[in-house]
Amino acid sequence: MPIEVLPDHVVAQIAAGEVVERPASVVKELLENAIDAGASSIHIGVTSGGQRLIRISDDGSGIRAEEVELAFARHATSKLRSADDLQRIQTLGFRGEALFSIASVSRVSLTTRHQDDESGARLRLEGSTLLGRQAVGAPVGTVIAVENLFFNTPARLKFLKKDTTERRHITALVTHYAMAYPMIRFILEQDGREVFRSSGSGQLADVVIKALGLDTFKQMVDVGSEYAGISVYGFTSQPSVIRSDRGRITLFVNGRAVQDPGLVYAITQAYHGFLESGQYPLAVLMVQVPSEDVDVNVHPTKAEVRFRDQNQVFSAVQRAVREALVQEERPIAGRFTPLRSETASPRWGQQLNLDLPTDDAGPSAPPRSERAALRPDQDPTAIPYGPGVPLKPRTLPVLRVVGQVGATYIIAEGPSGLYLIDQHAAHQRVLYEQFKERREQGEPVARLVSDTLAVELAAARARGLENHLEAFAAVGYTLENFGPNTYVIRGAPVILGTVDPAQTLMELVDEMAQKRPARDDVTEFLMRQLCKRAAVKMGQMLSHEEMQSVVRQLERCQTPLESPDGRPTMLHMTGDQLAREFGR
Ligand code: ADP
Ligand code: MG
Repeated sequence: MPIEVLPDHVVAQIAAGEVVERPASVVKELLENAIDAGASSIHIGVTSGGQRLIRISDDGSGIRAEEVELAFARHATSKLRSADDLQRIQTLGFRGEALFSIASVSRVSLTTRHQDDESGARLRLEGSTLLGRQAVGAPVGTVIAVENLFFNTPARLKFLKKDTTERRHITALVTHYAMAYPMIRFILEQDGREVFRSSGSGQLADVVIKALGLDTFKQMVDVGSEYAGISVYGFTSQPSVIRSDRGRITLFVNGRAVQDPGLVYAITQAYHGFLESGQYPLAVLMVQVPSEDVDVNVHPTKAEVRFRDQNQVFSAVQRAVREALVQEERPIAGRFTPLRSETASPRWGQQLNLDLPTDDAGPSAPPRSERAALRPDQDPTAIPYGPGVPLKPRTLPVLRVVGQVGATYIIAEGPSGLYLIDQHAAHQRVLYEQFKERREQGEPVARLVSDTLAVELAAARARGLENHLEAFAAVGYTLENFGPNTYVIRGAPVILGTVDPAQTLMELVDEMAQKRPARDDVTEFLMRQLCKRAAVKMGQMLSHEEMQSVVRQLERCQTPLESPDGRPTMLHMTGDQLAREFGR
């Protein structure tokens, strides 16, 4: 054949092949556009694995009426102006190729209204040919429907996988994006059935539970660390959870789902000594790198990136995962290990009573080597109180303690901004839930007192106590009457730790006389009072470890945001709020 310049529509189809390889790649591009448009809610509807219809609606910025046609032109983008901008891409898109490519191999209808426009516009195209345009009433945002994908590229059509395969790919894709953007609500419907929904709560943990299931989530540890300006956070599986393929490792770099064998290797390396070759963990990790240190423009589907300093990113990821694996062992194992062992520092446990004293608790953790062989449901360190009870689900994202203010508040950073935590209220909450759980599980709430501790009370107070001996016993005070108005303390509440039980008893009796709780409420009243007295005080300096311990336990409380008496435990400022306050 002589050399000839190809007609435009053939060029378009060839180019499209690079960007839209399969229905899932169309979904990916359209999702990225919705995310770039600042959507807070994205609805995805797919029919027949995407071949028949892919419909995505978002409540993002919308496209200006006069720019709608332009959006479908090749290399037309609102996200990039100069080659220089390529060095600090903050958006997912930048190539201006997706809508152009998709339109050249399907029938597209786009309805959009920009936030500044009075009315919306609807455009219909088929194989890049404009079929019609009209003005329509529409809410702010964009709805794009892609039908009959690859109708004009029979070669591509022939190689499409089965509907079920495509469906699986699309579900995986949407769940991945939902994990990378927990602030956005994603709803996915396949063939008219809702198959995935995230809440948009901003909590990565919420989405991971939705995406992987609670059972799997419970077997993961949180990763959260920063090294050389590279932050790595997310979840990775306990070493006892083994997969035989690396496909369960989901990686995001600056919010972009990427395939990076180097980083996958970094993660598996972190498990060195825990896993054998051919075994892989399960992980969802977000890596944040300054945008000028990563080149995202190396692949048409943008699924690969190149780092300026690959080694540094590799180290950051490996360290973060390793740290999480090693660290997560400590507080959990500490519950089962006597305080004098090396795993929990005596000062930490005794002074603060951060974990219930463990003299009467179950077996100590077996050495690492034995544990690796245990199945997750048999792993004693994964069980907080007694066999059969799984690790409590996380209710807050992983928080990294930054420091303490005024010896009263803990400053922490999470994936969605800044947290200011009232150390006293937070610790009360932690102790209260431990206490309650202990009672519900029928675990001992009293510890024996070996010294003779006698308390003599005023006659009226002694009568008050006498009336409620049962409630006092229920919270751990085993008292024996020892002559008029005098009691000997045989057992004291475990929760008090090193706090003086005799002094506390007198205070409780006084408090009861003043507050006069109803008879049915006395046990609850005493529990709260005890937690208040056992918790770290305002004005108490805490070490970094102590703060991290309080925070880690709070992250798994059922009601982490309130103290037992209903005061807030924390203030949260999102990244957006901070930016607004600083006029950014
Ligand atoms: P790119 O995302 O690389 O810029 P696309 O072809 O995907 O290229 O989109 C072209 C342009 O159309 C975008 O730059 C954006 O301005 C606009 N656009 C596409 N989808 C949306 C959407 N859902 N909401 C708002 N604008 C959109
Ligand atoms: Mg795009």
